[in-house]
Amino acid sequence: MTEALIVGAGPAGLLLACELRTAGVDTVVVERHAQRPDFCRGFNLNARALDLLARRGLAERLIGEGWQVPHAAFSGLPVTLTLAGAHTDHPYSLGIPQTKVEDILEAHAVDLGADIRRGHELRALEQDSESVTATVTTGAGEYRVRAAYLIGCDGGRSTVRKQAGIDFPGTEATRFSLLGDVELADPEALPFGATTGPGGTVFVIPRPGYVRLITTDRNPPEDKDTPVTLGLLQTAVDDALGRHVELRAARWLTRFGNAARQASEYVRGRVILAGDAAHIHPPAGAIGVNVALDDAFNLGWKLAATVRGTAPAHLLDSYHTERHTAGAHVLANTRAQVLLGEADDRLGPLTDLLTRVASHPAGNRALVETITGLDTRYEMPPDSDHPWLGRLAPDLALTTGDGRTSLAGLLASGRAVLLDLTGGTTVRESAAGWADRVDIVTATCPDHPELRAILLRPDGHTAWLRTAGPDHADGLHQALQHWHGPAAPSDAASVGTSH
Ligand SMILES: Cc1cc2nc3c(=O)[nH]c(=O)nc-3n(C[C@H](O)[C@H](O)[C@H](O)COP(=O)(O)OP(=O)(O)OC[C@H]3O[C@@H](n4cnc5c(N)ncnc54)[C@H](O)[C@@H]3O)c2cc1C
Repeated sequence: MTEALIVGAGPAGLLLACELRTAGVDTVVVERHAQRPDFCRGFNLNARALDLLARRGLAERLIGEGWQVPHAAFSGLPVTLTLAGAHTDHPYSLGIPQTKVEDILEAHAVDLGADIRRGHELRALEQDSESVTATVTTGAGEYRVRAAYLIGCDGGRSTVRKQAGIDFPGTEATRFSLLGDVELADPEALPFGATTGPGGTVFVIPRPGYVRLITTDRNPPEDKDTPVTLGLLQTAVDDALGRHVELRAARWLTRFGNAARQASEYVRGRVILAGDAAHIHPPAGAIGVNVALDDAFNLGWKLAATVRGTAPAHLLDSYHTERHTAGAHVLANTRAQVLLGEADDRLGPLTDLLTRVASHPAGNRALVETITGLDTRYEMPPDSDHPWLGRLAPDLALTTGDGRTSLAGLLASGRAVLLDLTGGTTVRESAAGWADRVDIVTATCPDHPELRAILLRPDGHTAWLRTAGPDHADGLHQALQHWHGPAAPSDAASVGTSH
């Protein structure tokens, strides 16, 4: 019996394990692979993912392992988008192998006390109103785990999604690409970037010690899981270029398509989906790892409060509402990027129009914030029209009675934060009934003297904010109650941390 059983130790499962353990939830992770595979799919963390990870003190160590790229591409548009001026504390994309991100998250989850079981595969599940029972197989046999909640972070072909009977509507793949992590016998034979020959285009992406080649699979087999051979990739590359470019030392060969699907329910009873298990989309924009982390970050605190019994009834459903909407935006913008990349003359006027929009600073910013998810704004109970409401507030520099800190630093404990910048007592007294669930922090913020008070959910999204007005606590009760349930009786409330 455990409180949370996570299926899959990819980015979504590992960050969710960190989040649940930070909140003190008993967490078991089952992962079918005994070891992490030796190939690497993704190679970047975007600005939004770094902003989120910074709110748990995890960004710095990842940034130290990668390289910063201050721009982004909108596939199909001949423009480079800049992240300068975007709504982020990290105006760049971080080049970093997905496997390195997973290593760091897994070590952190283990340090926090997660029970990660490799070589354990979920085969079946059944749920009732009290719990979910999973059947797990290992090399040594089969066992059953009962969990209060089971979270399927088990990738695009999710067994959890299928076992729970959750629909996965969307569009079938219409095109396939071949991918090879290989060496070029003559490194000068192909430049980095796109090279177009008489038969098609070959993309060459530099990787440490090798290159990643991507080209169209013109004759995909009936069974798309048929292994890709070096010979097949060699033929496809030579056919595209109209000349022979010798490939060797294949590290990873695969085929991927442009299917786009999204689970109809992210939460069904006690079974929850996150990451690729909840949505698949074309690889344009290189965003899959980042959305998976975003899902986990949104879910963790809500599930923890639900397990603890402090969550308002709608809280877990808000995970579906918020992340299904965000996922739909990802599907739409990655599909748009794929469409713009089509060799279709009818798209010319649209490409020209969007290129002009992207070349304008405001258009650049809108597009870059869309494709990185920096524009993510969750609906909050009606309140002010401040631009931070519903979004991540910037990582403000603050001074508290304990010295200098920052907004992200205050969120490291994984609890909600109410920042009181009024110098008075009204805000603190108004929130006293929630002090067992919300850290109430008195501080000054020299960079934003207009700010009076701000309530941040544990995921850093701004739930309520006041800049001026005589009643600084107006609407605060409503916001606290909406996200954290009713106020505790006055003797219970005093256990919360405040500075
Ligand atoms: C070629 C390619 C390139 C990509 N490049 C990028 C990129 O540059 N940037 C980016 O952001 N994204 C990229 N992606 C997408 C990214 O890899 C995925 O979106 C991301 O890994 C999703 O994370 P996840 O945790 O949801 O699922 P996964 O990483 O797929 O993890 C799922 C885990 O569940 C395990 N599992 C599955 N079934 C079971 C079971 N029954 N029992 C136990 N364990 C199970 C699997 O072994 C796996 O470890 C790329 C994808 C591909 C294919």
